[in-house]
Amino acid sequence: MATRIIDGKATADDVRVEVATAVAAFTHSTGTTPGLATILVGDDPASEVYVRNKRRAASAAGIADLHVHLPGDAAQDEVIRVVDKLAADPAVSGILVQLPLPDGLDAAAIIDRIPWQKDVDGLTTTSAGLLARDQIGLRPCTPSGVLTLLDAHEIPLAGAEVVVVGRSELVGRPLAQLMLHRHSTVTTVHSRTRNSSDVMRRADILVVAAGIPGLIGREHVKKGATVIDVGIHRVGGRLRGDVRFDELLGHASHLTPVPGGVGPMTIAELLRNTLRAAEIQRA
Ligand code: NAP
Repeated sequence: MATRIIDGKATADDVRVEVATAVAAFTHSTGTTPGLATILVGDDPASEVYVRNKRRAASAAGIADLHVHLPGDAAQDEVIRVVDKLAADPAVSGILVQLPLPDGLDAAAIIDRIPWQKDVDGLTTTSAGLLARDQIGLRPCTPSGVLTLLDAHEIPLAGAEVVVVGRSELVGRPLAQLMLHRHSTVTTVHSRTRNSSDVMRRADILVVAAGIPGLIGREHVKKGATVIDVGIHRVGGRLRGDVRFDELLGHASHLTPVPGGVGPMTIAELLRNTLRAAEIQRA
């Protein structure tokens, strides 16, 4: 079987162009520009890179870059005051608090200050409830990116047996819910699942977000299944995923590489969420 490699960069580029076009139309018709407020607390080098990439992508899409940088010793009250100010500012469509926050800050309490209409990471308790109920709201970016990739490759979700490995609030759990709303038969595998290889081998679509390099190989995958690898790890100076890519060539029907698979989709979906947030606030 020839395995089709899913090119996440190409799909992400398509989404960015689509969002940039829609942002220009929104700005033209409303006289206001969607704005993304990123909040970085401290000087963690990896977080600085992530935030810089998000800001650059936003600017390239015509979204106003409204960045706030707070010192690493900022107090909980101070961070909350900043979030509340951005929440009340009509120029701010979306608010993103870069995680992880420095020790001593209560991330959940800070995130929950973001109104659901501006929650472009989809991580507040309210957004989680809206997702659970399949009501209008903003969905977490990486799980949305996985769905966009599957749709772009016309991989049917309705009725498909989907296994999601991982149940984090950021990836596995929201992804399982999104798949359920798309009428898949969804099973979540986690660290306490018994006979997890047998469960994974049932999947028509296997999405892996376990955070363990090379966890998944041919023995976990039904022949002809689609395999989406969310994991990202730097191993020996190279980026690797949770899936042993080479083992699945000629075995899976569709497969995402790392890098160049799910990774580029996350920022593209953040841009899409920022536009959606602006539209929700105009409605
Ligand atoms: P996480 O919070 O550490 O969650 C990992 C999940 O995997 C947990 O639910 C855990 O189960 C489960 N798990 C761990 N070992 C397992 C095993 N042996 N078998 C089955 N399940 C197992 O990680 P995350 O934030 O979801 O991230 C997962 C990976 O995706 C990481 O590599 C991360 O870097 C990457 N990621 C990539 C993007 C992107 O943009 N591409 C975005 C976010 C995350 P328990 O709940 O039982 O502990």
